Amino acid sequence: MKRIMHILTMMMTMTLTTTKISTLVRKRITSKKLHQLPLGMTLTFAHMIQDTILRVRTMSKTTSNLLSMKRFCWRKLVTMNFTNHCQDMTASTRRWLIQLRPNIPINELGGGTSNFDLEIGLSFDNKNDLQHAVKVWHVDKHCQYHAMESTTTTWAIKCKFPQYGCMWRLRACFRKKTQLWEITQLDVPHTCINLNIQRGHAQLDANMIAREIKSVVKADHGITIKALLDIIKNKYGHDVGYKRIWDAKRKAIAWAFGDWDESYAQLPRWLAAVRSKSPGTRIEWSQRQWRADEIRTASPRFRRVFFAFEASINAFKFCRPLLQIDATFLYGKYSGKLMIAISVDTNGHILPVAFAIAETESTDSWGWFLRMLRKHVTDREGICVISDRHPGILEAVNTPINCFCPPQGYHRYCLRRLLSNFGTHFKNEPLKVLLCRAVVQHQDRKFIACMERFTYLSSQTPQCLQYINAIPKELWTQAHDRGMRYGWMNSNGVGKYKVQIILRAKLQ
Ligand SMILES: [Zn+2]
Repeated sequence: MKRIMHILTMMMTMTLTTTKISTLVRKRITSKKLHQLPLGMTLTFAHMIQDTILRVRTMSKTTSNLLSMKRFCWRKLVTMNFTNHCQDMTASTRRWLIQLRPNIPINELGGGTSNFDLEIGLSFDNKNDLQHAVKVWHVDKHCQYHAMESTTTTWAIKCKFPQYGCMWRLRACFRKKTQLWEITQLDVPHTCINLNIQRGHAQLDANMIAREIKSVVKADHGITIKALLDIIKNKYGHDVGYKRIWDAKRKAIAWAFGDWDESYAQLPRWLAAVRSKSPGTRIEWSQRQWRADEIRTASPRFRRVFFAFEASINAFKFCRPLLQIDATFLYGKYSGKLMIAISVDTNGHILPVAFAIAETESTDSWGWFLRMLRKHVTDREGICVISDRHPGILEAVNTPINCFCPPQGYHRYCLRRLLSNFGTHFKNEPLKVLLCRAVVQHQDRKFIACMERFTYLSSQTPQCLQYINAIPKELWTQAHDRGMRYGWMNSNGVGKYKVQIILRAKLQ
């Protein structure tokens, strides 16, 4: 140990010729003694050797000894887990380590996340599994590859940096006998260690990330991109671009929950299965007409579907003649809407009555939904429909052909939405509170008293009173409602049911 320290001191303090250093190294330092060196000293020593190698032009016995020593130094560094210290190293030290490029098998670096090594004869169920394993191995070992050949029976890749003298190659074939993908050729190990790959590793692509995050996304498909970035960073130590993670999340969702196209394709089978178990379930499909510029196919184009379960139809007969209707977005590739109609039983419990998936909320789609309700669910008269003031709903309920005009049906506004709209328009909290008090009054005199107070307070902003007076009283006040609402002022039931649907979708 003392001797090594002495040599190192000499090397660092004296101006020695290449021959002298070589001689010193060859004669006096053995591998056994190197083991005793601390990390910092080993780095210095390896650095010295590298310098010497660069200065020796001809390949001689001395040089080969030096290469051997260099290789040993590298092993020593690896043993000391120097990669863990890379973050603390200066940029120049890291650059030098990269230049060192020892000719040793890269799997001796240790650490990382892949607990396997690539070898000839290793077999995989399919090409995707093979590619994923090779990608994980490369990301873990800080190496990159380049595909040379990729067919249905062969996959051949080579190191991405042959210019650094790395001749690593891998070849895998599909074996008909075993029906497995097998690694049939694996040339020399990688010698192109690149510790500088911190971002944009070629093999850390969207497909690989999607496989890695699939279980996480399945457990919580609302997980943020930032959280996924952290997961990959912690696992592999690489930064990944936002767009790549976003793409990976989209793929993971498609794998976990099915593709958007697949989901629509499964809808007929799912509804048919429901009807086979519950024969009274009512389903009605609406097909989209072909446009002149579209290429016609044998299968019809989906437009809308209405469905009401048998149990709901039967239960609604015993409920109050009350329907709350609303629609919610279908988040995904196709921007459809899920339309919902619910009712309330005598105990105040929510009863889902009917559903529809439509292309959008419009007069046409709401009119179709209302007609479907009349056709498949109920023909009772005097049904009160509570909804927000969506223009499509307003027009649809006032269209006689949809069978919800008086006396067949009565439309009422959702109080919560009305107050919300009022607050958005005028941003006047005292008037909003007063309006809420007026709406829920059962007696006309109390309603008038509230509205007198409202008129007085809104004297500075007459448009508030104009806004309210423009809406017929029976649509938004309990005092003039004639009992149609049965005390239900809001369409909150639909809102709560929508939240339940979204939560359940997240849990699955
Ligand atoms: Zn390589």
